[in-house]
Amino acid sequence: MMGDVVVVPNSEGPQRPGGTGAPDACADGGPERAAPAPAPTAVRRGRARYDHDVLVVGAGIVGLSTAYALTRARPGVRVAVLEKEAGPARHQTGRNSGVIHSGVYYRPGSLKARFAVRGAQEMVKFCAEYGVPHEVTGKLIVATERSELPRLHALAQRGRENGIPVRELGPAQITEYEPYVRGLAAIRVGTTGICDFRAVADRLADLVTAAGAELRYGAAVTAVDRREGIGVAVRLSDGSVLRARALVNCAGLFADRLALLSGDDPPARIVPFRGEYYELAEERAELVRGLVYPVPDPAFPFLGVHLTRGIDGGVHLGPNAVPAAAREGYDWRTASADDLARTMAWPGVWRLARRHWRYGAGEIHRSLSRAAFTRAVGRLLPAIRVEDLRPAPAGVRAQAVLRDGTLVDDFLISEAPHTVHVLNAPSPAATASLPIGREVAGRVLAGL
Ligand SMILES: Cc1cc2nc3c(=O)[nH]c(=O)nc-3n(C[C@H](O)[C@H](O)[C@H](O)COP(=O)(O)OP(=O)(O)OC[C@H]3O[C@@H](n4cnc5c(N)ncnc54)[C@H](O)[C@@H]3O)c2cc1C
Repeated sequence: MMGDVVVVPNSEGPQRPGGTGAPDACADGGPERAAPAPAPTAVRRGRARYDHDVLVVGAGIVGLSTAYALTRARPGVRVAVLEKEAGPARHQTGRNSGVIHSGVYYRPGSLKARFAVRGAQEMVKFCAEYGVPHEVTGKLIVATERSELPRLHALAQRGRENGIPVRELGPAQITEYEPYVRGLAAIRVGTTGICDFRAVADRLADLVTAAGAELRYGAAVTAVDRREGIGVAVRLSDGSVLRARALVNCAGLFADRLALLSGDDPPARIVPFRGEYYELAEERAELVRGLVYPVPDPAFPFLGVHLTRGIDGGVHLGPNAVPAAAREGYDWRTASADDLARTMAWPGVWRLARRHWRYGAGEIHRSLSRAAFTRAVGRLLPAIRVEDLRPAPAGVRAQAVLRDGTLVDDFLISEAPHTVHVLNAPSPAATASLPIGREVAGRVLAGL
């Protein structure tokens, strides 16, 4: 519980004149504060005054599942979700492959492995319970070169260690599942599925609202003031100020920035990697029945361009992974000088570029040349032709990169006073969102 404090002003109250732009968590709470501005109507002596118990920043699937878990774990807790866009799931959550990942890829014991395996089961149940379109289809991971065979075998082992049903297939069995796909060997993972994560986010938003939480859209958090032992105050883009006992940072592509705004120095920065997709022309959609993936390069947390028959019936090819010139840069034309300057200022980015420039150059080439993209897909699907591809909307991944250039592989959740930051939640965080939300909610509630 908070100690005896007086918090002024209230959320519509006057701003601190000549301040840094950060709102006051508690106008007379901090020892460095001089005489507080009198605001008698907002003052309640003997108890802190908060607008909410918990503020969750970001109405993507991770922020919404956190709010959902908070309201379920502690009914009556006062939660507000603050989202800068006009609705939920406008960024990563609404722009992904829509695959419920089984957990086959992830290091046993990692958060990704634990939360993906559990999350996939829970996601299927959630979709069934709340009428969200979904299907458990299974998928193939296909080796097309001999050099990939040891990695494919290792993947099968890893899958089994993670408790996932995996079958190894030869070329003839591959064509039984996918008549147009060619490979030397494959593994079939039975528990992979597809769903509409945007619809999952919409349902979570409904459930959270029904449980009494507030969802505020068009509410960008622009400043944070945190006082240890008291709480946090955030300023929104409309100038209003909200006070709470705790803040949860689920800001996705801006998670590092929100952590910095809160006064923390996160170990990693978000580097945006765009994932571009094509859709197979309707008359050629028969080329792919289900989900077909290449053997991933273990140096990268990306899975490689795959073939996905989505829940809408269309077949998507992608995503690649090209550096984006803006955190929300969904095409080559969109650039942000501010985003670029911040990216370039992070030493890890230069180290990453030095280490992996060849991979990056290949991705950029395939992004700019449809013929090169088609050739890459042709390794799995020889019948593909350039004229079969239709451009489809892209997504941008929020990938955390450490100062030494390491791509953070696992989910990264960190705590600071009155704050929990989700600093790395790339794929499969949509699949794993329900366990991630519970984990974050547990950490927040433990500190309330
Ligand atoms: C191309 C691509 C393919 C993928 N495929 C899959 C897949 O098949 N399966 C899977 O499980 N995962 C997949 N993922 C990963 C998955 O989409 C993400 O891990 C997940 O959506 C992350 O959710 P989030 O809530 O953390 O982020 P987001 O969905 O990006 O939400 C963050 C929210 O925070 C808001 N925000 C940011 N800053 C502020 C601020 N200052 N104030 C208020 N609001 C703010 C943003 O507007 C945004 O709505 C894919 C991702 C991409 C990009």
